[in-house]
Amino acid sequence: MDEIKENFANIAARIKSAAKEGGRAPNKITLIAVGKTQPAEKLQAALDLGHRVFGENRVQEAQTHWHAARDKYPDLKLHLIGSLQTNKVKEAVELFDVIETLDRENLADAIAKTGATVECLIQVNTGEEPQKGGVLPRDLEAFYKYCANLGLNVTGLMCIPPVQAAPALHFGLLKTWAEQLNLSKLSMGMSDDFEDAIRLGATQIRVGSALFGQRRQATPA
Ligand SMILES: *Cc1c(COP(=O)(O)O)cnc(C)c1O
Repeated sequence: MDEIKENFANIAARIKSAAKEGGRAPNKITLIAVGKTQPAEKLQAALDLGHRVFGENRVQEAQTHWHAARDKYPDLKLHLIGSLQTNKVKEAVELFDVIETLDRENLADAIAKTGATVECLIQVNTGEEPQKGGVLPRDLEAFYKYCANLGLNVTGLMCIPPVQAAPALHFGLLKTWAEQLNLSKLSMGMSDDFEDAIRLGATQIRVGSALFGQRRQATPA
């Protein structure tokens, strides 16, 4: 698994130089290693390197990947980065440390009902794409207030820009909105655009294929 080691070193160096260009502190940027569809031995290689922050986009698969590792690595941090159905909320709040895809009232209600204090990010559909999750920009402020009234622990915003668009515009907007709402966390940037995201203020980036190689099959976002 020397390849994984090299990839982690390479990404760390790129994070550092993008941070420098953006006048950011590299240690304020969290690398979320996205494990979806990756084989267990690659995830284990990342754990062996000391990496502890991982992202998954499906509750079921995350349980397969991480349920056992939870006991062995108490400092493990798991982020849910795929859309969450309300009937999976109970399992999700038990497994994940952060839910990055809070995007609608009935989901907010369901999370609040568990009484969990799980950290949440609001996903914003910056490109207003009908097939994509996320609250529409015009609804963001009201939705944030709705979540705050429920007592949810909302700490930031997350976005997945449209594939064909220049991501920088979306990253810049997300940062502006986070500042307006006084939220400190910004989850933006993936394998192909994380350097832009860092320069524009990302506090956490979600990187899969650049660390672990191409995925075995596509999974819906
Ligand atoms: C799969 C996925 C990623 C990682 O994508 P890569 O391009 O492989 O880095 C990041 N964020 C979300 C929401 C994803 O579903």
